[in-house]
Amino acid sequence: MSRLQGRVAIVTGGGRGIGGATAKRLAQDGAKVGVLDLKAEACQEVLEQIAAAGGEAIALSCDVADAQQVEQAVDEVVSRFGRLDILVNNAGVLRDNLLFKMSEDDWDTVMNVHLKGSFLASRAAQKHMVSQRYGKIVNTSSTSALGNRGQANYSSAKAGLQGFTKTLAIELGPFNINVNAVAPGFIATDMTKATAERIGIDFEENKRLASERIPLRRVGQPEDVANVIAFLVSDEASYVSGQIIYVNGGSR
Ligand code: NAD
Repeated sequence: MSRLQGRVAIVTGGGRGIGGATAKRLAQDGAKVGVLDLKAEACQEVLEQIAAAGGEAIALSCDVADAQQVEQAVDEVVSRFGRLDILVNNAGVLRDNLLFKMSEDDWDTVMNVHLKGSFLASRAAQKHMVSQRYGKIVNTSSTSALGNRGQANYSSAKAGLQGFTKTLAIELGPFNINVNAVAPGFIATDMTKATAERIGIDFEENKRLASERIPLRRVGQPEDVANVIAFLVSDEASYVSGQIIYVNGGSR
């Protein structure tokens, strides 16, 4: 399938997990991909898998919370591949704690990576998208946007991303730019594995217990989210904008 032939994409936090699966999927669909992560070396495996499947990608070191690094990375992708059509704001971190134990640093780090990072990357990307009158932006929210114990910082950032998505859809729609968000539930990645370790539950047991509460009776895989993002950035979704798509196996 090559529905993204000729398109150029950026995936932030693309070194592993949902971002890694998304970078691979977009490359498989024909896009050239700029894979951004804190350290470019962390993207090596993703790059090799893309190349082995006949795709094209570059890796760039970029902290999405740093405006200068984001501008530079976006410019680098555009100078390398000639344009920018797709931005997937996926980079993320957790600093979970109950409110009374949550430090200012826990709060700022999560806000800076998820919310400010998505703002900075979208602002840098839209210049190129507006001038070519074509673009697709997908932000990564979460079911935690609806509230989750121990995640006052994360749920606020993920809820913020939903407002951000709807506002960008309004502002950028006249320039033929679609802006949507995915809101995953429990996806098996290093992030959820680290959470299980932190609270002292075996990851396999954690997934089994979580599956019992999910109508589809399984946790999600990174590819489950990547598949939805691949649709949202394709022209098959060209009349979909300002939407939050929950990818959570039917949970409420
Ligand atoms: P992950 O920890 O496996 O991967 C996150 C990636 O982001 C890592 O490669 C990390 O290095 C990178 N990253 C972190 N801070 C960065 C920064 N400042 N600049 C650039 N890159 C940075 O996590 P994941 O589970 O794949 O999550 C990806 C996204 O999906 C996150 O936004 C997360 O909040 C969201 N999400 C995940 C789940 C889940 O269950 N796994 C559920 C809902 C939402």
